Amino acid sequence: MNDDNRLFTRIAPLFDVGLLSEASVLVAGCGSGGSQVALQLAMSGIRNFFLLDKEELEVENVIRHACGLRYVGQDKIDALADVLLDRNPAININGYKEDIMTYVGLAELVKQSTVVILATDNEPTRYLLNQLCVETQTPFVVGKVFTRGIGGEVFSYRPGEGGCLACLERTLERSQYREGIREIDLVSEEEREKLYGMEISEIRDSPGLNVDISFITSFHTRFALDAIARTLPERPKHLPQIQENYVVWGNRPTHPFTKHFQLQRITLAPQEGCLVCGKRETE
Ligand SMILES: [Zn+2]
Repeated sequence: MNDDNRLFTRIAPLFDVGLLSEASVLVAGCGSGGSQVALQLAMSGIRNFFLLDKEELEVENVIRHACGLRYVGQDKIDALADVLLDRNPAININGYKEDIMTYVGLAELVKQSTVVILATDNEPTRYLLNQLCVETQTPFVVGKVFTRGIGGEVFSYRPGEGGCLACLERTLERSQYREGIREIDLVSEEEREKLYGMEISEIRDSPGLNVDISFITSFHTRFALDAIARTLPERPKHLPQIQENYVVWGNRPTHPFTKHFQLQRITLAPQEGCLVCGKRETE
């Protein structure tokens, strides 16, 4: 691919770009996380994207988004498509300005994807996509940034191997670094005050600096490339398989982290009796 231009000449000797070109990636949520992962994947030679997001780019998004001020007021899917095409005009993009919770074509879209980049900011959409991916045996990678960007986590669902997102939630108490971190959108306003001493308006703007998010999007991208490579007959060179399917990353020494740049790796196995993936295995 791309022999007619020199786009990938600097990375081609290090990385079999062509092997990845048939893969299709669904980016569910094109915000700060999803946009950065999509851009990284485009720069790794991924050429087929389904972009799914219902929102427009607002001024406040720009400081943490792959798209800059010139795109304010545009749909995020269109803005991101433009940025991706600016990196590689050979990229194929289909945009869906849809609400994930109500979009009737979602299952079909998941089925057509080699891997789903789960980059939404709320639990209901994460669990819906988890369920659809388990049902269709489609790999997904989900990334989350913890409040105030103190760190984050990335989980990779590998059909038939590891557990699913519901399995992960059941085992979180066993994770050393994840302990004490609670999803901000799941706790009551009162608890938020107590736990974080933050006003609601402050919480909305609290995922941290783009540099904090970028550590998580880098892991997210790496796991996505690994998920794609696992579907190929031939493993691309210099892309060895990632053993673990879950990492927790700490950006700075704020509880539960004690140092800068802490990493915990976990191999999550399917949990017996999981209501989402357990049922499927016994069918
Ligand atoms: Zn499960």
